[in-house]
Amino acid sequence: MSTNIEEIIAKVPTQLLIGGQWRDSASGETFDVENPATGEKLATLSSANSDDAIAALDAACAVQDEWARTTPRERAEILRRAFDLVQERADEFATLMTLEMGKPFAEAQGEVTYGGEFLRWFSEEAVRDYGRAAIVPEGTLRMITRRKPVGPCLLITPWNFPLAMATRKVAPAVAAGCTMVLKPAKLTPLTAQYFAQTMIDAGLPQGVLNVVAGKSASAISEPLLADDRLRKLSFTGSTSVGRTLLKGAADNVLRTSMELGGNAPFIVFEDADIDQAVQGAMGAKMRNIGEACTAANRFLVHESVAEEFSEKLVAEFEKLKLGNGMDEGITCGPLIESKAVEHVASLVDDAAQKGATIATGGKRRDGVGYFYEPTVITNVSRETRVAQEEIFGPVAPISTFSTEEEALEIANDTEYGLASYVYTENSDRLWRIADGLEFGLMGFNAGVISNAATPFGGVKQSGMGREGGAEGIEEYTSVQYLGIRDPYANA
Ligand code: NAD
Repeated sequence: MSTNIEEIIAKVPTQLLIGGQWRDSASGETFDVENPATGEKLATLSSANSDDAIAALDAACAVQDEWARTTPRERAEILRRAFDLVQERADEFATLMTLEMGKPFAEAQGEVTYGGEFLRWFSEEAVRDYGRAAIVPEGTLRMITRRKPVGPCLLITPWNFPLAMATRKVAPAVAAGCTMVLKPAKLTPLTAQYFAQTMIDAGLPQGVLNVVAGKSASAISEPLLADDRLRKLSFTGSTSVGRTLLKGAADNVLRTSMELGGNAPFIVFEDADIDQAVQGAMGAKMRNIGEACTAANRFLVHESVAEEFSEKLVAEFEKLKLGNGMDEGITCGPLIESKAVEHVASLVDDAAQKGATIATGGKRRDGVGYFYEPTVITNVSRETRVAQEEIFGPVAPISTFSTEEEALEIANDTEYGLASYVYTENSDRLWRIADGLEFGLMGFNAGVISNAATPFGGVKQSGMGREGGAEGIEEYTSVQYLGIRDPYANA
């Protein structure tokens, strides 16, 4: 490791954050974090167990009331300072993300911008938390609604966007006046640890944010879900883990926000600007090495333009440079772990066996690191696993359709409903498709649509709740209605 990298890693706290103190886990156990491009160990972190999880909730509960009474402006200014600090530390955050997650450094810098924006956005939202005032139709009561912080929250984040998934939850929770326990993914906890230190440096009071990374996720989540002091669970991750957590949340009827898996269709109509669609496809598919819940998972292309689209997409894929994301010019990094390579390879092999054509790529790379070549497959049938499962890798499967109705029917034929993309120059069609698609997010002639100012979330088994936008803070508040006797009412 170069000295610069060693210096950056040395800034990352390796213990648990509980009640404002970084401290070792109760058991003294640890776990290692590795670089998926090289297999090298990056750091050893304290591993939280159930006792640590409860200690973190104790700390969050101890300051909840006091924190809820801080002024919106105070909370806003902490978030704004955190935003500034993240910008100052942008290269450090980007380096940590490339090292622990694998994304190319330029993309990691992009995530610093995207993830940092949640801090600025929610600093602005913190002071715009409005209620309503009205009179009931019978005239007997005046009503006021207001929003109160929901209370101590458990925030569980995935490994694929180590900064943005943390800021997208922590920032609205801070803005709303909630305290929290953050459990980052064990594969990429370094960014979250450094982000927590950044929140402290920005002036966040002790105990508001507690961080418990650990080797066993359920050892942390189960005692917390069973504790009725916890008021909210916000989870981003796979649909299968989301289902387990929802069952666990049922006993205490916990408020939940669930950002789960996706199987995004990318539909290209015969009237689309094909060059624009290919550019959009590169963003929708290859951002984050394809390891995104919003990643285009199924390319559905009108039969009259499928050949042109496929040839142009293959040409773009062949320009990609696979390698260690820290190296100059690399545009596609490693997958997160060897299991991920196995998964992607098995999907491609299954498609090939069922008659698909591998137009480019289609192989894993031997040697150190978890690399799979950027791959385009054509003639992909609906029966293949690649058309049905989340790929989470640099593979673009292309199928064709002949009518608008058929495109909609194929697109909706999934239990998921997160992101979708449509390329057409016909505005009437745009609205018909928007009405017909069962997805929480739709990009029209746009391949990358995530933004702190917009509501992000899915329908069907992609989850519930929204993050970002004006909606994001509502997930961390509950509405209280005050009914006041009308002075002119007889009753
Ligand atoms: P994952 O479900 O395996 O893990 C997510 C988090 O849950 C991690 O912190 C993990 O440690 C924890 N976890 C795992 N098992 C648990 C359990 N039994 N109890 C409590 N916590 C548990 O997902 P992942 O592999 O980290 O991330 C990839 C998945 O996340 C994909 O399915 C992707 O689509 C999804 N994702 C969704 C969004 C979204 O906003 N909808 C964003 C990013 C990723």
